[in-house]
Amino acid sequence: MTTIPSVLITGASTGIGAAYAERFARRGHDLVLVARDMARMEALGTRLRQENGVAIDIIQADLTQPAELATVETRLRDDARIGILVNNAGTAIGGSFIEQGTDDVARLVALNTTALLRLASAMAPRLAKAGEGAIVNIGSVVSLAPEFGMTVYGATKAFVLFLSQGLSLELAPKGVYVQAVLPATTRTEIWDHVGADINTLSNVMEVGDLVDAALVGFDRREPVTIPPLPDAGQWDALQAARQAMLPNYRNEHPAERYRTVLSTNAATSINDPAAAGQNKGDL
Ligand code: NAP
Repeated sequence: MTTIPSVLITGASTGIGAAYAERFARRGHDLVLVARDMARMEALGTRLRQENGVAIDIIQADLTQPAELATVETRLRDDARIGILVNNAGTAIGGSFIEQGTDDVARLVALNTTALLRLASAMAPRLAKAGEGAIVNIGSVVSLAPEFGMTVYGATKAFVLFLSQGLSLELAPKGVYVQAVLPATTRTEIWDHVGADINTLSNVMEVGDLVDAALVGFDRREPVTIPPLPDAGQWDALQAARQAMLPNYRNEHPAERYRTVLSTNAATSINDPAAAGQNKGDL
């Protein structure tokens, strides 16, 4: 791997991915841009080459198409110059679960989870062998908030968060950094795809601010970066609460609250044969 590794960024034609491309080019990294819109990537690539003197390569790929995804996987597997993957390509769809089409939610899952997973899987063994490198996965605060009403989108981002946390535990000891970035509402075109007018939304983060904050987390080697969260202690408390539950999963018997038999009139302990006998006829 060269001293300044190349960075492969998916979804680099616009939005958060294009901002990452700009920032990494400024830092002197050569780039591989991946998305479907060739014209936009060529325009961005030409500008970044001129402004920063870095090399820009472009792969046109629809990451929901297995053959096109495979091209990117091969590149990540074989090109030892690429030391950083920004797994950013993703989308959202509008409507509630019963309004969303089955093919549409399946395509959303294919892009937001399967493609991201396959690219990380293609790259990670090479990085682990080299003992260096980084994988940045773009998740969302929606992954922590089923209350926000974007159920399938949030579920894909919960996958991204879990995958990133697990990979971080597996790969950090091998010298590979894995970061999950959880943006909240950020001014990009994704909102057009869900049928929302970004100008009617409040508390919208500008895309440059989001990526600059994410890169502060990157430079600090944070496993999870949540740019809009003011109090990092809240995230730490959530992790501590989750981890405090872990020893309690190692139980041979169901918890006491599940060891009762409910009748129409009363809940009866299954450990209390006399009481259970009284209710035999109700079961
Ligand atoms: P965006 O402006 O819509 O950009 C999405 C990028 O993904 C584009 O470059 C698009 O390029 C690419 N893309 C979409 N479908 C693709 C496909 N099938 N194959 C390959 N590339 C594809 O959205 P964004 O807001 O920057 O989103 C980037 C990431 O941030 C996503 O993972 C999103 O879930 C996450 N995020 C965004 C927000 C927000 O409020 N903006 C909040 C939380 C998380 P082409 O159309 O050229 O293919």
